[in-house]
Amino acid sequence: MKENPAMKKVVNNMRPGVISLHGFLGDDKRDIEQIIEHDAAELEKLGMIPDEVADKLQEIMEKALGGLGDFISLKAGYEAKADSIRGKLPCPFSHPGLFRKTVITVRNAETGEEFLYTDLGIHLIRDHCFFQGKGSPFRIEPVKLQVFLQKV
Ligand SMILES: [Zn+2]
Repeated sequence: MKENPAMKKVVNNMRPGVISLHGFLGDDKRDIEQIIEHDAAELEKLGMIPDEVADKLQEIMEKALGGLGDFISLKAGYEAKADSIRGKLPCPFSHPGLFRKTVITVRNAETGEEFLYTDLGIHLIRDHCFFQGKGSPFRIEPVKLQVFLQKV
């Protein structure tokens, strides 16, 4: 990637402690563009588009918010819980506006498998096809997401 000033700012915004405690890149050594390209290609192979993924995650978030902090049941043994944290976060790509800090925990009650996502995470998928770097606590592998979204 040729470093341009705008991208430099994005990279900096994604470091731990700038916008969020853990940042967005985990221990991924790839450029943000490479991460996006790779996940976009994978998503296409899986036959999904970012809007579709984002819409479904949004829908599950709305349902989970109805649980008022307790797990609600989804289909296929999955359950989801919403934790609302005070404060709001900006998009690291410097979009205007702020995103609520709602953390959704999705759990498979049988396997114990768990993943997390946030309001901002939904935006990052929808508008940037950015699933975050490997090792980020809020990264969800597109293939895992597809398996989950097909079931619920
Ligand atoms: Zn954005």
